[in-house]
Amino acid sequence: MAKTNRIKIDDILQGKKTDKIVNIRGWIYRTRSSGNIVFTIIRDSSGTIQTTIKKDNLSDKEFEDAKKALIESSLEIQGTVKKDMRAPGGYELQASKVKIISFAEPFPIVKDQSPEFLLDQRHLWIRSQKLTSIMKIRSTIVGAIHRFFRDKGYYEFDAPVLQPNQCEGGSTLFEVKYYDNKTYLSQSWQLYAEAAVFSLEKIYNMGPTFRAEKSKTSRHLSEFWMAEMEVAWMDLYAITEIAKEEVKFILKEVLKHNKKDLEILGQDISKLEKISKAKFPTITYTEALKILEGKENMDIKWGKDLRTLEEDKLMKHFETPVVVTNYPLKIMAFYKPSDPIDSETALCFDMIAPEGYGEIVGGSQRSLNVDEMTNRLKEMGEKIENYDWYFDLRRYGSIPHSGYGLGVERVVMWICGLDNIKDSIPFPRTILRYKP
Ligand code: ATP
Ligand code: MG
Repeated sequence: MAKTNRIKIDDILQGKKTDKIVNIRGWIYRTRSSGNIVFTIIRDSSGTIQTTIKKDNLSDKEFEDAKKALIESSLEIQGTVKKDMRAPGGYELQASKVKIISFAEPFPIVKDQSPEFLLDQRHLWIRSQKLTSIMKIRSTIVGAIHRFFRDKGYYEFDAPVLQPNQCEGGSTLFEVKYYDNKTYLSQSWQLYAEAAVFSLEKIYNMGPTFRAEKSKTSRHLSEFWMAEMEVAWMDLYAITEIAKEEVKFILKEVLKHNKKDLEILGQDISKLEKISKAKFPTITYTEALKILEGKENMDIKWGKDLRTLEEDKLMKHFETPVVVTNYPLKIMAFYKPSDPIDSETALCFDMIAPEGYGEIVGGSQRSLNVDEMTNRLKEMGEKIENYDWYFDLRRYGSIPHSGYGLGVERVVMWICGLDNIKDSIPFPRTILRYKP
């Protein structure tokens, strides 16, 4: 079939090919035949189009092949584009040549299958319209994060994935045999980023992050992608504003490039547009407890972390993401400093998404006090000598610095309106699943 004039399906749906002869290639999304006519929906990466294949217009072999091809068979088609208001998308292709590239075996995925079955068949299920739209939105989000930081003059900096230390608590480490020793898969890029701000000052990264999350939740993966930033000379309040700006930029980029995908996912576009232009409030942990007490009748002891339940109840009172600062120091990671104004609390923050999507960003100013950090690590039973290199950063020209991490999948989940974080990543890894 002539290569000339081969186009994507979306080019047809844009309406500029009416009555023209075009070539497309893709896969059979749906098909049924009736006598001398086959009705097929073809998909490619850009969309789907209704196609009619009539015996009269084709050779016998072409027609017989088209008739017997099952869904997910790959093919090339030449045809004339016709406007047809009854067709989804408003256009139909009337085939004049059909070439099956590969006949598919009966596809294992049919309607109404269980989520577990679909996860077993993930390598095939990622062809679905829903996952395709999510993956496109994810790609926009990842691109937006790179652009956001690069446009502000941040350098991309890479940290090792195999690390000798914990960063976010020993209980979620994945241990890896390392020759005759052991290392851990990265829980965060942060400790190495803190070394690099002394040369680059403003840095960011997006990389795979590993946490052995032992409880089953709809928001935790064992392998996820975290977009982190670390910056010299800035305090907590400065970075909370950058995080707000970043999340709004991500939303605007998705609204610019993925309206069709948001529609396929049934998302309320005007609601997301409103959020992308709104001011995100900042409150303290103590104020959050007051809202929970006053408006939700919840009695939470000061000092307890906000769990999913509390975060969800709190967010009933906000329409945009909210930054919560000053969590109790005692429950925070070792590198978070106490607030000189309120020493029981840490100079830290979480950003919580609306509508029950939970924490999307976590960050803090970094402690400069080696004694305090040493005591915290000892309490956790850590070997202090493993952190000696990290404490060097406080010994040679120490400076105030801060940083945060944004969970890419949490943001995908929120913007796409997903029930479970598993659909925010092509091949999810959880406590119960590492295949396919
Ligand atoms: P959570 O309280 O939800 O477990 P965390 O406080 O452990 O989060 P941080 O260490 O602050 O999270 O990590 C930064 C961001 O990474 C979080 O705000 C979240 O968006 C994301 N994140 C953390 N753990 C996971 C996970 N297991 N799966 C997916 N995303 C995660
Ligand atoms: Mg956690």
